[in-house]
Amino acid sequence: AKHSGRSTFSWYTPELDSDAQKRKEVEAGLIKALKYDQFRLLYQPQYSLRDGELKGYEALIRWDHPEKGTIKPDVFIPVAEDTGLIQEIGTWVLNRACREAAMWQDQNRRIAVNVSPAQFIAGETHKRVAQALRNSRLDPGRLEIEITESLLISNTEAVIETLREIRDMGVSIAMDDFGTGYSSLSYLSLFPFDKIKIDKSFVQNLGKATSTDAIVTSIIGLGRSLDVTITAEGVETEEQAILLRAAGCDLVQGFMFGRPDSVEKHEASSPVFPFD
Ligand code: C2E
Ligand code: CA
Ligand code: CA
Ligand code: CA
Repeated sequence: AKHSGRSTFSWYTPELDSDAQKRKEVEAGLIKALKYDQFRLLYQPQYSLRDGELKGYEALIRWDHPEKGTIKPDVFIPVAEDTGLIQEIGTWVLNRACREAAMWQDQNRRIAVNVSPAQFIAGETHKRVAQALRNSRLDPGRLEIEITESLLISNTEAVIETLREIRDMGVSIAMDDFGTGYSSLSYLSLFPFDKIKIDKSFVQNLGKATSTDAIVTSIIGLGRSLDVTITAEGVETEEQAILLRAAGCDLVQGFMFGRPDSVEKHEASSPVFPFD
């Protein structure tokens, strides 16, 4: 019978089918999600390790699926990247984040937005950033774009030029997940950036392995000499926070200081600092 065509196919290649099928499902779902406005942004706070002050937030996308509930980005961002839907989703994120941040009570808070390498189009991304700033009237000095090192391995000239354009607007650039992936120190001298985010895999091994402690200390020292701000992500314990502060890390972000949530909630609660 005609309607059994799909199950017959999956009978012969069960794994291939379920994998490909799942991606197709996610892709179709993402198209609907864009159409029916099923995305929202959560915000995770970043605190100064020096004085405990709340400096800003990272925007993290969530997908409220009508049947499956809230879906995390690790599930759908890779599919969005493969299918090209990341362009539209990424533009939505940029615009929404700028618009929301422009309405925050505290106009000193910064807003960090993730831009994936697949989304980053050399020669184009700065135009989208400019447009989001224009639409929202957000002060460019409050916006930060988080990129990963893998962006830097290809298309060097054009990527550098586009990052420069973004910085010329007054927007800052943060290197996310620093120390993982295609990290190479030579990129640091080639690419314009303002901030390094130490990957949580290092942060979470602090105090456990002397090699990790040494790496984190070196990254912080590197940041110092390059005059860039260092943020540690994934800080979960007091011990990690204390070690980071002793090492001279500037900012912290992690479950210990606040999970991704609404800005109103974060503004209403103050985290417990293990210092002074
Ligand atoms: P990321 O940019 O490295 O974001 C940090 C991730 O670590 C977030 O996961 C956050 O919830 C999680 N995290 C924060 N503090 C802690 C902690 O103390 N412990 C642990 N175990 N995890 C912590 P999330 O929100 O699930 O996002 C996962 C990834 O999805 C992000 O990693 C980013 O690469 C991507 N992503 C999220 N939102 C966007 C977006 O709007 N656009 C793009 N292109 N990618 C996004
Ligand atoms: Ca990030
Ligand atoms: Ca990260
Ligand atoms: Ca990551």
